[in-house]
Amino acid sequence: MCTTCGCGHADGGDVTFDGAHGHVHAHDHADNAASTRLIRLEADLLAKNAGFAEANRRLFADHGVFVVNLVSSPGSGKTSLLARTAGELRHRLPLAVIEGDQQTSHDADRMRAAGVPAVQINTGRICHLDAHMVGHAVERLHLPRGGVLFIENVGNLVCPADFDLGEHHKVVLVSVTEGEDKPLKYPNMFAAADLMIVNKTDLLPHVEFDVGRCVAYARRIKPDLAAIELSATTGQGLAPWYAWLEAGAARARRAASPAAAAVAEAT
Ligand code: MG
Repeated sequence: MCTTCGCGHADGGDVTFDGAHGHVHAHDHADNAASTRLIRLEADLLAKNAGFAEANRRLFADHGVFVVNLVSSPGSGKTSLLARTAGELRHRLPLAVIEGDQQTSHDADRMRAAGVPAVQINTGRICHLDAHMVGHAVERLHLPRGGVLFIENVGNLVCPADFDLGEHHKVVLVSVTEGEDKPLKYPNMFAAADLMIVNKTDLLPHVEFDVGRCVAYARRIKPDLAAIELSATTGQGLAPWYAWLEAGAARARRAASPAAAAVAEAT
C-alpha cells in the first residue's frame, strides 16, 4: 500500500501502473457537459500532480541531485544517448536512471548493463510519466547525491509536456531521421523544454534534414532554447552535453542543504 496517497500500489520490484492512475483523455467532445467534466478532471489531476512534483523537488534538492526529464518521439535515441552517457560519465558523477515505457523493462536492463542503477516504470495504457509514479520509483533507487538522475519519459511529444515530475529541466530530443518541423507540430513540448538535442547527426549525409531550420523552428516557440547537435552512435558532439550535465550537477550541489552538500562533496 502506498503510504503517500493510500493507493493500492504494492511495494517491491519495478513499478507498473494501470489505468487507475492515469488521466482521462477527452476523445469525445460531442457533449459540452461531458467536455466540461473532463476539463475539470484534467485540472484536478494536474493539481494533484503538482503536489507530488513539489514533494519530489524537495527530495531532489535535499540530496543535491540534478534531475533531467528526457522526452522525444519513439525511436529518437533517448535510451541510446543515456546508455552512452551512463558508460562515459559514471566514473565522473554518481548517476541513476528511471525508465518509463508502457511495457517491458528492456531500457532499464540496458542501463544496468551500462553500469548504472535503474528502475523501470511500466505505465500500461498511460502515455506519460507523472510525479506520483516517479515518487514511487525513487523509493527503489539510491538517489545519486551530488550527481544526475535521468528520467526517460514515455516516447511521445504530447502528453509528457503537461506533467511536472519535479525535475530541473526537460530535455527534448529530435533525430535527423524525423521531420525538421517537429517543433512546429508539437509546440507545447518545445516550450516546456530548456534544452533541445538534435541526435543521429552521423546520418545527415543520407537524409534531407536542415539542422539550422529545425533549431530556428524550435526558437520560434522558445527563443532562449539551448541546442546541442550530437550523435549518440559515433560520440560526435557529446562534450557539450556532458558539460551541460556537469554544470547542472554542480548547481544542484551548491543549492543543496549544507548537510547534503557536505555528503555530496564527500562522495
Ligand atoms: Mg527508450
